[in-house]
Amino acid sequence: MKYYDKLIFELSRPGRTGFSLPASERKMPREGVLWRSEPPRLPEVSEPDVVRHYTNLSQMNFGVDTGFYPLGSCTMKYNPKINEEIASMPEFTCQHPLQPEQSVRGSRAAIDELDRALAAITGMKHFTFRPCAGAHGELTGLMLMKEYHLGRGDLARTKVIVPDSAHGTNPASAACCGYETVVVKSKADGLVDVADLKPLLGPDIAGIMMTNPNTLGLFEKDIKEIAELVHGCGGLLYYDGANMNPLLGVVRPGDMGFDILHLNLHKTFSTPHGGGGPGSGPVGVSERVLPYLNVPHVSGFHGNFTVMLRALAYILMLGRENIRMVGKLATLNANYVKESLKDCYKLPVSSVCKHEFVFDGLLEPNGTTTLDVAKRLLDYGFHAPTIYFPLLFHQAIMIEPTETESPETLDAFIEVMRKIAAEAKADPGLLHSAPRTTPIGRPDETRAARQPVLKYEA
Ligand SMILES: *Cc1c(COP(=O)(O)O)cnc(C)c1O
Repeated sequence: MKYYDKLIFELSRPGRTGFSLPASERKMPREGVLWRSEPPRLPEVSEPDVVRHYTNLSQMNFGVDTGFYPLGSCTMKYNPKINEEIASMPEFTCQHPLQPEQSVRGSRAAIDELDRALAAITGMKHFTFRPCAGAHGELTGLMLMKEYHLGRGDLARTKVIVPDSAHGTNPASAACCGYETVVVKSKADGLVDVADLKPLLGPDIAGIMMTNPNTLGLFEKDIKEIAELVHGCGGLLYYDGANMNPLLGVVRPGDMGFDILHLNLHKTFSTPHGGGGPGSGPVGVSERVLPYLNVPHVSGFHGNFTVMLRALAYILMLGRENIRMVGKLATLNANYVKESLKDCYKLPVSSVCKHEFVFDGLLEPNGTTTLDVAKRLLDYGFHAPTIYFPLLFHQAIMIEPTETESPETLDAFIEVMRKIAAEAKADPGLLHSAPRTTPIGRPDETRAARQPVLKYEA
């Protein structure tokens, strides 16, 4: 263990300080409710200790700015730094939420401009920007679906259809909204089975939630027929647009027949995410749902405004022509990696993918698992892909390279993935004992999630 791997509390020495402030001239009252009975237990360290503490902590982390991050379904693309510059302009950050409307006209104009841009990109009429994440957007969208049916006096629609390949938030959001979820199966080619869908449709169906391309990275080719069928029974189509990346400038959910959608600005429109930072999940609606748009006020004011500014900066920087390249390059990169590795990793669905694809573990695992492969990747300086999701495959490895990676980076990743496949064959113990180079090896992930230790107890 290196000296500065110690906790900052362990570096503490009584009386050591990292600052010197002039003595306060104000006489503080010694009594009263706001006065601490004892001083706070803070580490007492010097300025260099503080600087080293935070710098070392930052180096124990991994982000898009440190290396390749092919986390499927999460679109960890590079976030241009100009977004940060614009989002931190004092003209925006110094506004108060309760400021009079006419004094923030510029910010309102930015929101309206983003609304128009996203409407043009998705084929929707208008957006609400209040939802602060993708799942929050799903809830908002389903509340709109409910309002739509209730507003028409249609009280019998209690079920929402969700494909078996859906993101886990879809059935969860439907349940939160009081809907019963009905699962529609996928065929062997990974697409929604229209024959399985038909008998599910009826006067009790509020709508269907779909992702297109779906969680396997495959474009649902039957979407037009599905839209006709669902609309035919009086239901609505909800589009989970968290992974809109491959469609940017190429196809529009509105043209496919979707009525309500959410986007993840923090995935597709380049806001740094992961680790639970602020997000934005704006919800767009088609003409028929538009009258209900302002009903669910699910968060205060205008949502996470600086995330919206980043999205607007990103869209304007790319422009109409270049935004089309985002989807195309994301798709090209995913297919390149898939084709380069399919002789080492099991590819359950072999058709052309969009922005991401799924392997089902190594072709010759030799006693190793997908977890072992993911852990070994860390030793080579790459973030692991999404693993054990989607649940359709037992050893799922879900890879999304994104459009911002160079061919050289992709080649380096491919080389390492091939090397790991060879290691599994020659010396599986190497994989079982990985990672060897990270500050923490293999924590008990269930306990870390269920019983996190978040504070220092002496
Ligand atoms: C990420 C994701 C979500 C959830 O978005 P959050 O912002 O994490 O709430 C929903 N659906 C899909 C397909 C996603 O990839």
